Amino acid sequence: MIERIATPSQTKKIIEQNSFYFKKNFGQNFLIDGNILENIAESANITKQDCVLEIGPGIGSLTQVLAEKAKKVIAIEIDKHLIPILQQTIGEYENVVIKNQDILKTDVDALIQSENDGNAVKVVANLPYYITTPIIMDLLENHRNVESITVMVQKEVAERMQAKFGSKDYGALSIAVQYYCTAKIDMVVPPSCFMPKPKVSSAVITLHLRKEPLLKEVNETLFFHIVKCAFGQRRKTLLNSLYNQSKLGFSKQMLTQAIQNVVLDEKVRGEALSLEQFGRLTNEIEKMQK
Ligand code: SAM
Repeated sequence: MIERIATPSQTKKIIEQNSFYFKKNFGQNFLIDGNILENIAESANITKQDCVLEIGPGIGSLTQVLAEKAKKVIAIEIDKHLIPILQQTIGEYENVVIKNQDILKTDVDALIQSENDGNAVKVVANLPYYITTPIIMDLLENHRNVESITVMVQKEVAERMQAKFGSKDYGALSIAVQYYCTAKIDMVVPPSCFMPKPKVSSAVITLHLRKEPLLKEVNETLFFHIVKCAFGQRRKTLLNSLYNQSKLGFSKQMLTQAIQNVVLDEKVRGEALSLEQFGRLTNEIEKMQK
């Protein structure tokens, strides 16, 4: 077995030998706990049939574990200083493709086409926290060919992703994630498992993309417009949020009617509506548009 990268001493050695310095703006907190890496691969259920898209391999700690379990790993790293290090640390794994790119500027469809013949990939990453929401939203909203997403994120963001209606964590992110996926927090990870230590706890969450849409016959664009308005001003009632923020141009009276058809109470706030109720409200509003 090739020497493990994810130990405190080995990580320190690699960093020092290469005179590498951590860049805060790239969210560089490297995992130094081998058990956590094994658990991430297990949560993602990686087998020799899988092609994995890893976002931000760092010095290759997670990449190494994935390479040993998957058919192929495509690792996208923004920091050019990490590329020669990765070539050293995981260069021996012939099933790893390293690309020096910003994932937010990458044509993910073209990448999946060229690297995996257009077949679905599994996304696995210890995500730089500043891109958590944009990257997850890109994968979901643009219907990328992804089977599952297993990612380390800030614990509170993971909680928001799987929050149910009525809870304080429930919001537009919860709805977007649960509209497209089932979500499950696999484990909570303390700061001591990283180098350098982040200020907050982290969690690994797995999102399984739904094969069938949760809400059938719902206008997706209108649904997400309504959700965005509903949570844009959290303390306002749903009615006022929709009236003030939406570009729908309906009178208060018409919106009141649509809301009452779904939840009876016109003073309800957005956070009290389930996904299904947002779906029904979307259909009511769509009917009014016709
Ligand atoms: N996977 C490694 C680990 O678990 O130790 C490193 C994880 S570290 C939290 C995040 C990594 O993502 C860093 O290597 C960072 O340089 C990289 N990164 C940050 N922004 C990125 C972006 N937009 N596209 C690709 N990689 C990015």
